[in-house]
Amino acid sequence: MKKIIYVLLILTVSISLTSCSIGKEKSFKSDDFALGTIISQEIFGENAQQVSDEAIAKLKYLEDLMTINAPGGDINKLNENAGKGYVELNPETISVLKSARKISDLSAGAAFDITVAPVVKAWGIGTDNPQIPSKETLDKLVPLINYRDVQIDEINNKASLAKTGQMIDLGGIAKGYAGDILREIYQKNGIKSGLINLGGNVIALGSKPDGGAWSIGIQNPRSETGEIVGIIQVSDKAVVTSGDYQRYFEKDGKRYCHIIDPHTGYPAESGLMSVTIITSSSTDADGLAKAFVLGLDKGMELVKKYIQLYGQAEAIFITTDKKIYVTPGLQGNFQLEDESHEYTYIKER
Ligand code: AMP
Ligand code: MG
Repeated sequence: MKKIIYVLLILTVSISLTSCSIGKEKSFKSDDFALGTIISQEIFGENAQQVSDEAIAKLKYLEDLMTINAPGGDINKLNENAGKGYVELNPETISVLKSARKISDLSAGAAFDITVAPVVKAWGIGTDNPQIPSKETLDKLVPLINYRDVQIDEINNKASLAKTGQMIDLGGIAKGYAGDILREIYQKNGIKSGLINLGGNVIALGSKPDGGAWSIGIQNPRSETGEIVGIIQVSDKAVVTSGDYQRYFEKDGKRYCHIIDPHTGYPAESGLMSVTIITSSSTDADGLAKAFVLGLDKGMELVKKYIQLYGQAEAIFITTDKKIYVTPGLQGNFQLEDESHEYTYIKER
């Protein structure tokens, strides 16, 4: 098997794997558990170990703030007060809500919408009891989905949910935000080079210590063992994937994935298995990866719209018929490395 950049280790305790020197540059590798996933850091610099500890402490803080089930956390507070007016939140939560709004606006809520939470809860995907909700349940909950009902008072760091019963879930953007915050921590501490993986959200910090680009593997969405289908070379970018293989359940031979179509309340079935976004902003990449809901053509259009409004972004779409499509800017970069020999790289569309 080819070397895969993201090796997921099942660990529940923080361990430092290695601390060594490559050439002049000291490196530090660690795996920790935070934000419900394995966080792998490989960072380079004299103070790498201390900085990686600071990074994990920050992730745990963000987890308490933004996880839907964290009692006393901001999201919990906001959800409990739905329909009752504004609540004061941490400026960092406000910042994520604003980013979420920006990404939702791109598709007018057709792809990314954090108010899918009541429906996410009804499906229970990723819990011990996933289930297909009844039509009555969905008829009641789907009308509660509307990102425009997340009202933000930026000056006073307050937000509200307009209607009783509404809830938000930052599961589709919080890891992305955490990636951007980690990058700030590294930069503040003079770390210029590193590769960080937050459970599938990769941050390529700068270039490799030898000056070359980082090689990032794109996962085969149907490999049980984490094989890849291709490789891209990136420097100073976030590489974020949303796919139907990350969390799902099967019933009567049908796969129900954890990404919900905000219009139907059903797990998205758009002919895609994964969408990978490559941008400077890890937060935006995480939100934009929900282009998954829209399918290949409309999803590509969404990425185009993002580029027009906010600057460079690239994407990789993998369809259920095992075809791989990339944005024009990635064509000279993406390399098919498919050990399964089942995927076709479609260069021309
Ligand atoms: P990700 O892991 O980044 O692919 O995001 C999936 C998670 O985001 C799910 O587990 C839900 O918590 C949440 N989610 C599901 N569907 C959507 C959606 N359409 N928009 C925003 N968040 C979603
Ligand atoms: Mg994500």
